[in-house]
Amino acid sequence: MKLIKKNNNFYVSNGYWQTEHDPSQGGCITSIKIFNGTNKNILAAPIRSYISKYSETEWTYPDFRDDLDTNASIRIIKNNEIIKIKTRSRLTDTAREQLPAELITVYEYHFAYIKIFRTFKCKEKIADINQVGAGTIETIPELNCWTARHSAAEENNESAENFEHIVNIPSPKWGKIDNTISPAFISWHPALHLCIFNNGIEGIETFPDSNIKEWEEQIVSANNGRCARFAVNKRFNPDRSVIFCEPYFGIWEKPVTLHGEYSFVSYIGLPNIRKNGPDKKFIWINTVLRIRKENRWTGESEIKEMSDNGIQLLIHHHDTPKGHGLWPDGSFFWPDGKFPPYEKTELLNMKKTIKLAHKYRMKIIPYFNPRVLHAAAKEYKKNINNWSRIFGADKNPHYYYDESGGSYGAMACIESGFSDFLKTYIKKIIKTYNFDGAYFDGPTPAWCGNTKHAEHPHTSTDGMIDLIEYTRKLVGDNGIIVAHQTMSPLIAIENLVNISVIMENVNGFPIFYKGVPELDCFTMHCSFVNVTHKAVCGYTAIPGKCPENEIKKLVARCIVKGLSFKGKSYDPFKDYEYWKHLSRYLKKLDLSGYRFEDHSKKMIVSSNPAVCGALFHSADSIVAILANTESAKKENFIWNIDLKRCIYKKENMTVYPKDRDAFCYKEDGIEDTIGGFEVKIYDIR
Ligand SMILES: [Zn+2]
Repeated sequence: MKLIKKNNNFYVSNGYWQTEHDPSQGGCITSIKIFNGTNKNILAAPIRSYISKYSETEWTYPDFRDDLDTNASIRIIKNNEIIKIKTRSRLTDTAREQLPAELITVYEYHFAYIKIFRTFKCKEKIADINQVGAGTIETIPELNCWTARHSAAEENNESAENFEHIVNIPSPKWGKIDNTISPAFISWHPALHLCIFNNGIEGIETFPDSNIKEWEEQIVSANNGRCARFAVNKRFNPDRSVIFCEPYFGIWEKPVTLHGEYSFVSYIGLPNIRKNGPDKKFIWINTVLRIRKENRWTGESEIKEMSDNGIQLLIHHHDTPKGHGLWPDGSFFWPDGKFPPYEKTELLNMKKTIKLAHKYRMKIIPYFNPRVLHAAAKEYKKNINNWSRIFGADKNPHYYYDESGGSYGAMACIESGFSDFLKTYIKKIIKTYNFDGAYFDGPTPAWCGNTKHAEHPHTSTDGMIDLIEYTRKLVGDNGIIVAHQTMSPLIAIENLVNISVIMENVNGFPIFYKGVPELDCFTMHCSFVNVTHKAVCGYTAIPGKCPENEIKKLVARCIVKGLSFKGKSYDPFKDYEYWKHLSRYLKKLDLSGYRFEDHSKKMIVSSNPAVCGALFHSADSIVAILANTESAKKENFIWNIDLKRCIYKKENMTVYPKDRDAFCYKEDGIEDTIGGFEVKIYDIR
């Protein structure tokens, strides 16, 4: 992290983005530039806080604001790996009137997020207040997409599918901000997540810390079940996209009187976008336990073959406790929290597999579920009542996901002693067995009502972010972290991981459950804010009998979107056959030097609308990927590359197809033929 002072303003940068604090505008963040996004200020106004007074005749938003104080103080209280900036401002209106109130804000800058502590100090009684904002964000209108998650307290929290009912976690919603004044998203309780973004380019997120009680009930007790406002809205004159963060929104309620101190903690996440977009190293994943009755551990010949085929990362997935789905009955199940995970023979098999992975220059990581603790773990008996995550009417631990047996374990809350246990456990597993990192299933902030963890119901937001941050430090920059994020996109977490697994349940539904979607109908999470490589958990797209055409269709469509696969279909042997030639070919290239452009950028132009393409380009060459997104063979179509937008171009280029003779690139088009759902790769130099 770097802090510089220029004129009177302070600038903070982590090398991927820069914020600016201006003392003549309340010390607020007045500009944000994301270097490898558009590198333009994405804010339309300072990120501001306010107290608004009730008026019988008009409602002006907002009344007394921190950003209208032209003489705020800014003090640096820490300047090293984490930068801390403290600002002090008076709440001021446009006529320069001031309330007898101060706002103290501490901005804690981490590499992956900014944590912000705000305290309103009302020295005297301030009556007739109908609105309090703490960190409302207004951006330029180009950020026209949104994703958000309701509070678990929300009554209208419709669930995407059964899985969420079991774990009681609200699903993320996604959408475009349209040109109306009605909110794109609104929650009357502290939302779990709010984000606005320019799809595939850049964005900004904010969300309350774990202590949602502060947000929900500090100003008024939760009367009528609606006291706060967390919303995504379009605003006009000038056009802008807004995230409202208001711990009190009472324009339909009785005005309140403020007196004393009110504190609110929230986060801001900004994408750490690399120059060439998401890192395409280690994107080809496979699991080491195979679905078969005999020799379930992957042997040397298979591991060597996977390495030859370009697989770079192996996941030792813990599989299921009791022959669930296609998995054979449980002897390989790794109960979460158990050490050692297996008895002697299987432990030896695991150690052998890890050695083999390293011998063939692959990374290998174990599976962790930061939401459950299995009864087979030594700490279970003593701690489960203290650590369990409680929700709904029940006061007993919930089991995931079979209450009657065959369970993954009891649901635990990371805002308890479970956090320290988990950190020690993860470190012990990685160091003892020489794993290269960690796979986290659902590192997802959720609601918990266990008052042994905090005086009040809370969320697991702080704990989840802290866990991923801890693991990144533990495994270093070369370690591999995979986050199965299906349950919630979070930029703060995506900034810390190598791969985000998407589309299993939540944002796969209802799209995936109906088969492989059309190219334009995949979730916006595929490109989102252009950090972290995405891998689809695609089996929910492939119905049980595993029709080959559906697998081929999934592979062809994902490859032009730049997605790789994790959990492809119910028959991983079958689908591996369809994509291994791609990973085998791409393995030859150091993709870290390339920039990837998906099919939507239209850098490959084809005369047949069913054939589309994506490309990797660097200063040295172009790798063109052509896919037939339909089942029928396409003959005699013409394609070429929009060279104007390529980093690499020269007079006479040669096209090297994968399995035939090289030929000269023709700018007016190359005639080609492609089979149903076939993917073709051309190296062009
Ligand atoms: Zn809890």
